[in-house]
Amino acid sequence: MISANLLPLVRCAAQADLTVTMTTNGFTLSPEAARHLAEAGLGYLALSLDGFDQVHNQIRQRSDAFSLALRAMTHATDNGLRVRINCVICELNLELLPGFITWVRDNPRLESIFFQALAQPFGEPSRENWWQAEPLFPKNPARAGEVLRELLDMKRAGFPILNPDGQFAALSAYFENPEQFVLGQCRVGAMGLTIDAAGVVRLCSRYEPIGDLMQGHSLRAIFKSAKAEQVRAEMAACRRNCHLLINCCFEENGAPDLRGAAADPSSQ
Ligand code: SF4
Repeated sequence: MISANLLPLVRCAAQADLTVTMTTNGFTLSPEAARHLAEAGLGYLALSLDGFDQVHNQIRQRSDAFSLALRAMTHATDNGLRVRINCVICELNLELLPGFITWVRDNPRLESIFFQALAQPFGEPSRENWWQAEPLFPKNPARAGEVLRELLDMKRAGFPILNPDGQFAALSAYFENPEQFVLGQCRVGAMGLTIDAAGVVRLCSRYEPIGDLMQGHSLRAIFKSAKAEQVRAEMAACRRNCHLLINCCFEENGAPDLRGAAADPSSQ
């Protein structure tokens, strides 16, 4: 939508048999852009939506954010794209989440919803205790835990929630204290990669790139290269309290070692 490289990148990844998902706030998605993305092989459009109009607009600090997201949803589905919602749990939307899930389930243009925890934006310099000064971070972790238990119950009742069951307990523990989870070994480098608008490929934004698509190398070759193996080995030694492990790259039985974790809500 913004970069001329976007469609070639989507096409390249789709031709490599990857399921291509693009996350967007939907502000600029025109019908033509949706059609081009569908033709290039985009698998899913992940639409960032953190609640209904008033709350979403307040979080995005834009009075038309909700209506633009709905317009993007319409353009996407009219052109054959599948759409799911990415929702960041925060202080402002915590109480409305059960109703929001019901709205997603009842909207025929939407397939599912995936929750993430509010985190420090990736790529920003890490700030200790950043969440204590963050007005959107949930202020009452006990209440956050109750809501997360309700979401898990809704998932088990058949609502289209994509998070694995174990992630709800992990999110509860994270909201108790985001500084307390420390991974045993990062496996993010084996789970995926990122490609920026210029075609540069990374396993983690904090480490060196592993390749450049615009230099003619295939994505598969880059992912399996010696450089990628070297970066993976460096990443395995990383001991950051990294939000990727609690959000996008959460593994049900995997990496996060939740020190002082809240009890599994499913066991209560
Ligand atoms: S844990 Fe470290 S290496 Fe792994 S994704 Fe996070 S910052 Fe990168």
